Amino acid sequence: MDTLGTIRALPKAEQHIHLVGSTQPETLLWLAEEGGLDVPFETVEEVRDFFSYTDFDHFIRVYSTVVDCITEEGQFERIAYEMLEAGHRCNVRDFEASFSAPDHVRKGLDYGGMLDAINRGLRRGKRDFGVDCRLRIDLVRNYGPDYGMKVLDWIEEKGENIVAIDIGGSEKGYPPEPYGPVYKRARAMGLRLVAHAGEAAGLDSVWGAVEGLGVERIGHGTIAAKEPELMKVIAERNVTIEACPVSNVRTGAVASVAQHPIREFIDSGIRVTVNSDDPPMFGTDMNNEYIQLHRQLGFTVMELFQLSLNAVDSAFLPEEEKAALRERFVHEYAALME
Ligand SMILES: [Zn+2]
Repeated sequence: MDTLGTIRALPKAEQHIHLVGSTQPETLLWLAEEGGLDVPFETVEEVRDFFSYTDFDHFIRVYSTVVDCITEEGQFERIAYEMLEAGHRCNVRDFEASFSAPDHVRKGLDYGGMLDAINRGLRRGKRDFGVDCRLRIDLVRNYGPDYGMKVLDWIEEKGENIVAIDIGGSEKGYPPEPYGPVYKRARAMGLRLVAHAGEAAGLDSVWGAVEGLGVERIGHGTIAAKEPELMKVIAERNVTIEACPVSNVRTGAVASVAQHPIREFIDSGIRVTVNSDDPPMFGTDMNNEYIQLHRQLGFTVMELFQLSLNAVDSAFLPEEEKAALRERFVHEYAALME
């Protein structure tokens, strides 16, 4: 097998992927038709063109259009199933996916109905592809901490398969600190803690997530490379950075994968994972993420496999399940290298 073939065959774990952001172009057309919606695209090609952005705010506007296309709770089943199907093609063995429930509840959809549909899709995916997927709920920071508390009420009432919370949405203008009490309560509920930070805003946002919220993982964190002291704290506290290199290029957070700070994070002793974020919306998938790191930053197969293991080691799984998954990855890797 050549190097690229080996990279594609590596077992992978995805821990930063948005459910709605993984809607396939064909599925988006189906959603628009089902809802009888007036949308700015009619073909798969036009959807792909629609998925290009001048900056992060533009991306958020396009993402909102995708949100608007989902008009029934049951439609989430197909989206969830297809997310696993696409990941399986890249040999992703384990997923943690982010679901921005507030976006859809505010459009009139029922939280419990959506969660049931998602879990149906994930169960079908597990049966067909043998992959697991846990959920984290994105509180969507634009709605504010009071709304975040309300989302925790929903989770308390119905939380099947939910292991963590996150704050995504517009990072600029919505700092992490006001979410302190929300995160404290989530921790007491047994939920794990993640925040998007340092993608579309500055160093304060990352400090706020680490010190103000006590997160275990940071989504993106790109900006942190500008401050050695911050990288030191991230490393000391064993906070994992969920890097999404191609996404960062597409939204303009970094100029190219070659200029992504992932190496600086690793060299600073930070545990880093690699993720696809919103794969069809960024024209990427997990194989492409790994291949770009190989091509543009010289990552070897062994270094890429270490990124896979990092995702296993920082997965929100009970210790014995984590150990079993790790063993499976190591065996697969050994067989590939033979
Ligand atoms: Zn994200």
